[in-house]
Amino acid sequence: MLNTAPYFHIKNTLPETVTLVAVSKTKPLEDILTIYECGHRIFGENKVQELCKKYEQLPKDIEWHLIGHVQTNKVKYVAPFVSLIHAVDSFKLLEEINKQALKNNRIIKCLLQIYIAKEESKFGLETVEAEQILISSEFSKLKNIEIVGLMGMATNTDNEEVIKNEFSVLKEFFVRLKNNTHLLNCNFTILSMGMSNDYKLALECGSTMVRIGSTIFGSR
Ligand SMILES: *Cc1c(COP(=O)(O)O)cnc(C)c1O
Repeated sequence: MLNTAPYFHIKNTLPETVTLVAVSKTKPLEDILTIYECGHRIFGENKVQELCKKYEQLPKDIEWHLIGHVQTNKVKYVAPFVSLIHAVDSFKLLEEINKQALKNNRIIKCLLQIYIAKEESKFGLETVEAEQILISSEFSKLKNIEIVGLMGMATNTDNEEVIKNEFSVLKEFFVRLKNNTHLLNCNFTILSMGMSNDYKLALECGSTMVRIGSTIFGSR
């Protein structure tokens, strides 16, 4: 059985105001259930197909977060149940989430993924692009989505200064949007940043939600 000590260690050392998303991608149902039995209810997956399969087979009071890049044509599969979509990186995707949310008579909560890393491979919007979307009249018509915050991934490096700089840029942008009272369909409360290797730095920089996989479930 999965050792629950790492889970409890993280849970007990996180500030109460910070939400822990237990990232269970590639891990079996029994490991998720072990953490569920510890009282945990928020789990994150990065692939639509795997998320849907686990949703079907696991207790219905789990809050499922989709944390990975989403293709537009797959939104319909998660729209009935997903609690939060972390990695929204285009207006086209927002339109599709809105359409599928409407079909399901829901408002789907989303985070915009902001590009903060030095690496080329990471998905995300530039801050200017994100702002352009949020102030557009097309966006203001999407009544079945709610942008509740931002998500970002720092460069995968041992250089803590680089990581802290990137997280701080995201935090600053978050505060600016939060203070903009003109934005519609927005309620900036969540700043999703920090994974197993960098969540402590993310907390120092103002993270309100950490996404932790391998420290809880073991390496993949
Ligand atoms: C896999 C993943 C995580 C968790 O990573 P760990 O290093 O295992 O903690 C967090 N966020 C995203 C977007 C991921 O894909």
